[in-house]
Amino acid sequence: MSSKKSPAVLHIVVYSNFEGFCMGADRAQQCVEGFELLTDRCPQVVWTHMFNPIHLIGSGAKRECGAVFVPYLQKLRARQPRTDIGLHTHLFDSFIEALGLTPRAEPRGTTGENGGGYDVLLTGYPQTEQAVIIGNSVAAFAEHDLARPVTFCAGYSATNPAIQAFLEKCGFTTSFAGQVIPPGIPEISHHPCWYELLEWGENITPLTRPYRVQRDSILPGPGPYLDRLVEVPLVADQDIRQLYLHRQPVSRQNLLDFHAELVRVTGRSSCVPLGVHDCFLERNDMRAPVTAEMVACLEHVERIAARGAVTVRYSTAAEVSQSVFAEPELW
Ligand SMILES: [Zn+2]
Repeated sequence: MSSKKSPAVLHIVVYSNFEGFCMGADRAQQCVEGFELLTDRCPQVVWTHMFNPIHLIGSGAKRECGAVFVPYLQKLRARQPRTDIGLHTHLFDSFIEALGLTPRAEPRGTTGENGGGYDVLLTGYPQTEQAVIIGNSVAAFAEHDLARPVTFCAGYSATNPAIQAFLEKCGFTTSFAGQVIPPGIPEISHHPCWYELLEWGENITPLTRPYRVQRDSILPGPGPYLDRLVEVPLVADQDIRQLYLHRQPVSRQNLLDFHAELVRVTGRSSCVPLGVHDCFLERNDMRAPVTAEMVACLEHVERIAARGAVTVRYSTAAEVSQSVFAEPELW
């Protein structure tokens, strides 16, 4: 007698966002060391690295990082061909200028002091300039022998239906952007302007599952859909930031259990991305707690897998997107 498990899967995506703050070869090496320490402790992970093209385009200390990061990414992909190297664009003034465009100061995802373009939203650039930013970033990947990116996230997850449609036209299959940061929680929430400028807000919760992107909205809904683009929402947020569900604090381990239970009960697949920012893996005060949180989460993933009630798989964001597109009956 064999009890057949549902083909539904709990996908775990381990990812990084390269913020573009890294300057100089030494800091880049520290960051790579941080990634490698984490991978040594959790060799089962298949990375989705959301790489920042500022390390390929522009000049000076940011390019020096690229000279360290690119060989790391190439080596990683040679060792694990499933590695997903996506595109994460923060619109720093120097990056925009290197593309021959004039930097814009607004709209921004915060109202803090000028961050040199870090918090400027892609939605504020006209479509012709968005095309330059994305097109040149994709070309820079090719010039550095990195595979063509299919996974995309703009800084502060800035997007709208026009950008989503354009991404699909450029060959992207995966928007890896939906944020779960609720408003009104001191030291956790984005500035109120972020909620006014972008639609994510409380429409994406820690329980949201990946979904086909609609033509007229970036949020989950009944369609009509773009042909191929799938949103993989970042339901576990990143690093060690406290998560909230129904305005109550919740741990990432709890969240992993919720998604596992959802898969078991409904027979539908789900996905929990677990993420870190590159800068926190340099040798600084954040490396130890951020690494410890990721390791604790991945140990919990192993416990869920060992219980045997659901199939657990380490996937990339692009692989989850492929499953949502090609196996709709599982979602
Ligand atoms: Zn970012």
